[in-house]
Formats: sequence, C-alpha cells, structure tokens
Amino acid sequence: MKDSVRVIPIECKFGPTSAYAYYIDAAEPALIDTGIASSASNEIEAVLAANGIRMEDIRWILLTHGHVDHLGGARAIWEKTGGLAEVVIPRKEAYLLRDRSAQITDYKQLQGQYLDAEIQGKHKAILLNDIGADLEPTLEVFEGDHISLGGDVSITVVETPGHSVGSVTFVLDDLNWAFAADAVQMFGGVKSGIPTIEDPMLYRRSVQHLLEEVRPKRLYLGHHFQDSNGVIIHPVVEEEQVSTVLKASLEMDVKLADVVGRHLSGGGKSNEGEGLYGPFESIASEIGYTGDPRNLPCAFFVTMHGYQKELMAAQNK
Ligand SMILES: [Zn+2]
Repeated sequence: MKDSVRVIPIECKFGPTSAYAYYIDAAEPALIDTGIASSASNEIEAVLAANGIRMEDIRWILLTHGHVDHLGGARAIWEKTGGLAEVVIPRKEAYLLRDRSAQITDYKQLQGQYLDAEIQGKHKAILLNDIGADLEPTLEVFEGDHISLGGDVSITVVETPGHSVGSVTFVLDDLNWAFAADAVQMFGGVKSGIPTIEDPMLYRRSVQHLLEEVRPKRLYLGHHFQDSNGVIIHPVVEEEQVSTVLKASLEMDVKLADVVGRHLSGGGKSNEGEGLYGPFESIASEIGYTGDPRNLPCAFFVTMHGYQKELMAAQNK
C-alpha cells in the first residue's frame, strides 16, 4: 500500500480569478481538470515542463464537472497527447463537453435570465472563447466507478452533485485524497463572495457525505475559497482542516437557506427590481454581498435561483 503520490497543483488564471488543475504522477499520468482553453499552453504546459513532465505523456484527463473553467483546456491537452489520453467526465455533464453550445443553453437557464441582453452577449462571447472546441469523452463515469492509473494508483468516483447537477469527486484510493474541485465551496470564491450552488439540497447532501462517510485525509478544491471571516483558504487542505472546510460549507448553506426563506417566502418575488441584484436586492443587502453580478463567473444569480427553487418546491408540497 502506497503512502504518497506526487500531486502538482496548477493555478489556471481566467478573468479576475483562477481555477486549479491537478497533475497526478502515476504510471499512467492523470490531469484532474484543465482550466480554460488558453490554460493548456499558458499555465499547464509550463508548470509541467518545470517539473520535467511532458504534456504528451498524460494518459487520463479527468473532469470533475462541466463548467468551462474546468473543462475548457481539455481539447487542447487531448490534442497534445496525440489523442491518446482517455477523456473522463461525469455522465450527467458529458453533453457540456461534447457540444459547447450546451454551455450557452445552460447559461441562459441560470444566471442569463437575470441579466440584460447586452451583458448576456458579452458573457456568451467569453464562454465560447473559454470552452475551446467540442470534444467527445471516451468514458462517462458515475458513482462507484474505478479508474486504474497503472501500478498501484487508482481512483474511485464519488458523485457529489449540487454545485452543478453532475459534479463528481475523484478519490485516490488508499490515501483517501479527495479531488472535490467545486463540490465544496465554503463561504464562496474570493471574487464572487458567495458559493455557486445550482441545487442546494444536493449540495448539502454531498458535503455531508464527504464529511461523514468519505472523510478525506486531504481535500483538493477548484479555487481559492474563503472562510466565514473572509480569510482565503489554500485550495489544498489536510487532516483536521478538511472537516473545518466541510463544516464551513454546511454553515454557509444554512445561512443562505435561512435568508432566502425569510426574504422570498411570500411567493418568491418580494422586491422585484431593476437594480443590480434583480429580485434578490434585499438579500444581497442583508448578507453584505457587494459583488458585481455582471462579471463572469457569476455565482450570485445561480445560487439565488437554486435556493429560490428549493424554497418554492418546499412551499408547493
Ligand atoms: Zn464549477
């Protein structure tokens, strides 16, 4: 049984923020997530080269979910491997890799509906630029699937939906190191100031599952997230800090469900407005949210939409 595997975190910049990709050193080297389209040559290749690793030797491209800041670089990396790398994505989000126009459809159904046409146009252009080109996955995974990276290094797929409906966590067997990416969000991203949660019920369940059952020894996250005091946490945490991070994520969920419940329980449109925060103006003000939802990535509207939907479903029972 191994006691360690070399993992190289790679910070991929996009817009005002960044997303993390992780290289796993194994007989069949793997890259978990890929940044955006330009990350392949801007950051990933350079960081790997500095560590004496060639892109063409990557044999597994493992995508935790279908958001552009995680799968955008997949096509370029896959091409660098001469098409030899297996491309793995959760079954529920494979359509987002296969056809980039699906990203735009999803965008419109979530944050897009709260933004005017001009901003929507800008966002769509950014999204299309960041996605790169369409790519056919070679393997669609779900709960319990095992992936061998050769030798004694293997990975188990744990479904952790909520941030997006199909997000998975890749867990390195034996070591119990969990690559959760965006499935765990604490008090939100550094720039966004709020976690991105498409489905709060699933998110809550996934974080609880990680906390109580998976109990990772190390957690690899997709971004720099902040704690309840606004302190930025490094995306790789271990030992007792893992449960602190998971508990903080549950704490923020309770806070969001509570504030949305109080402000929107009267039919969900308590203060329909033309302001920056649309129908969620009073919530932004109570939680002290001052981010600009006209910037991408836009967590605020995605999350408000998710909590409002959960509230309405509970009221219609
Ligand atoms: Zn994401």
